[in-house]
Amino acid sequence: MKFRHQNFSSLRVTLCALVVLSLGFLFARAYAPANADVPAKTVHGIQVANIDTSVVPGDDFYHYANGEWIKRTVIPPDRAGMGVFTTLADLTNKRTAAIIEEAAKQKAAAGSDSRKIADLYNAYMDEAGIEAKGLAPLKPHLDAIAAIKDKHELAHELGETLRADVDALNNTNFHTPNLFGLWVAPGFNDSEHYAAYLLQGGIELPDREYYLSDAASMKDARTKYVAHVAAMLKLAGFTDTDARAKRIFDLEHAIAEKHTPLAENEDIHKANNTWKAADFDAKAPGLEWAEYFRGAGLSQQKEFTVWQPTAFTAESALVASQPLETWKDWLAYHLIAEYAGVLPKALADENFAFFGKTLFGTPQQRPRWQRGVFVVDRWLGDAVGKIYAARYFPPEAKAKAQEMVANITAAFRKRIEALPWMAAATKAEAQEKLNTLYVGIGYPEHWHEYTAFEVKADDAFGNLWRGSLFEYHRDVARLGKPVDRKEWSMSPQTVNAVNLPLQNGLNFPAAILQPPFFDPKAPDAVNYGAIGSVIGHEISHTFDSEGSAFDSKGRVRNWWTEADLEHFNAATAKLAAQYDTYKPFPDLSINGKQTLAENIADVAGIAASYDGYCASLGGKPGPEQQGFTSDQQFFIAFAQDYGSKTRDAALRAQVMGDSHSPGQYRAATVRNIDAWYDAFKVKPGEKLYLAPQDRVRIW
Ligand SMILES: [Zn+2]
Repeated sequence: MKFRHQNFSSLRVTLCALVVLSLGFLFARAYAPANADVPAKTVHGIQVANIDTSVVPGDDFYHYANGEWIKRTVIPPDRAGMGVFTTLADLTNKRTAAIIEEAAKQKAAAGSDSRKIADLYNAYMDEAGIEAKGLAPLKPHLDAIAAIKDKHELAHELGETLRADVDALNNTNFHTPNLFGLWVAPGFNDSEHYAAYLLQGGIELPDREYYLSDAASMKDARTKYVAHVAAMLKLAGFTDTDARAKRIFDLEHAIAEKHTPLAENEDIHKANNTWKAADFDAKAPGLEWAEYFRGAGLSQQKEFTVWQPTAFTAESALVASQPLETWKDWLAYHLIAEYAGVLPKALADENFAFFGKTLFGTPQQRPRWQRGVFVVDRWLGDAVGKIYAARYFPPEAKAKAQEMVANITAAFRKRIEALPWMAAATKAEAQEKLNTLYVGIGYPEHWHEYTAFEVKADDAFGNLWRGSLFEYHRDVARLGKPVDRKEWSMSPQTVNAVNLPLQNGLNFPAAILQPPFFDPKAPDAVNYGAIGSVIGHEISHTFDSEGSAFDSKGRVRNWWTEADLEHFNAATAKLAAQYDTYKPFPDLSINGKQTLAENIADVAGIAASYDGYCASLGGKPGPEQQGFTSDQQFFIAFAQDYGSKTRDAALRAQVMGDSHSPGQYRAATVRNIDAWYDAFKVKPGEKLYLAPQDRVRIW
């Protein structure tokens, strides 16, 4: 589970990079690689200028800590939102852009990483070349779809679209527009070897709710979506586009009705369904599975973990029951949508008009160079990351971060030992999980290599096509092989952090270990409040509603007693209920169940980081700075991690389709921590006040 919501659109831009990171905050507005190293921040501590002293901390801690920043921040037209840490994300992006620019100047040897970085970027930037090719790159693929003459061939073609574009537990991406998605990861029942997980797919809109919800905004999005599909088909040379678009929508609607909701996708035990390849015909009749697997290059694979069995049964039945022509139109539209970013401008603009403007409320697209940087990050992330880490992550930063991890891990150990409700054997296994936990700081020990990824200087479409196949083939080739527990799932230049439950590992990329999250020159209180609570958050996932399903070796094993589980479920139900009461919109509440694992991690993370901080002081009080006590600095730094401003449409998308609560509600979790009440003299009657017995304590 990753620390931070990136945004839905980043999921659907893995290929087309069109609606790039509309919520991801990752890009600078101006291109200034020459100044890439201008320090983003000179204050080593909390951002006092962001605090709104007119807000009572006990009423609304988020607006107290971030109110002035929110008041003065205007969301640029090419973004769906901004965060307090945007300067950090912008700096990281400028550095990455500079690395790409240097690679472009090197005229490196063909086949080298530098040459690939340069060619991938330049081909993407060559809008004139893309325009001149017109629809030619699409043509062979559309011809292949048009030539499908029966459901047997359809099954093969559907198999050919399978990609490794979902990730159920690490980066938690449950969305693929392809019929299904493949995730290759350590096995639930054999964590020593890589296994094949299959996840539901088939819809373009972010989540089933977009098809099913009665909310006016969703009905409106549906109407506009059908018009958008028709427009895209027309631009791609299709006739009778209104009728085709309606049929494509109806098919997606039928698929969405059978999709498992996001809130249920996080239940490991419901997902642990082993199907032998030979079982699929009986368990999910309709699709010709042998042909599907042949198309996917998976004929040798003997078994799969099917995450949402009911969706597989339903989607397979739809392959049989719905007309061949509808499926062919669905395939054609999904292909066009996926590659719109490297097709002529008219298609790219129409795609942004719907997915950027209508769905996320972003008026304007990011400059192309920023999208180009994203494409390189996406497909050659480690090639760029290797240079990034060597240049921007000094050993002193690594040492300081490791010291914090050690203190926070020790705090977790004490908390677990002191739990009155947990059985001794369960505690022992929990401690063992901490013993074997791999904590990756900054960058991985092994890098992905890209020898087999062919990149051409004049073929933007082909580069992305081959990139997605290269990743797919790399993952398929790993099936059955021994697991590398130290493998990373994020590049060093990612401003995020992640827990990898099947590897019992954590990744803290170099890019998040910078101000305002982490500043070796800032007081410890600030670092523990800001990055320490992120570290605690990720460690907590080791034991939370998902982590508790995996033992110290990453195996799915019930190592909790019934009584442990009962207590845990009761405590966490209280937290789910707390989050259910938050209403970002009059017609839309936070879903406490859907966001539970992340909310638990937030409570536990801040609690453990606070303990780790206190332990680091060795019994002495922490120093005051900037007019705030050390405890006040700790909690303000925590809340300032989450300062953000988001367009309504994008916020709705997050509430419905993400397992993280919006920042405002994540910051409010301080109300569960006793020390916060003392630090800010929070009194009964104030809006966030909870009586001691109502505060949720998990660990
Ligand atoms: Zn998380």
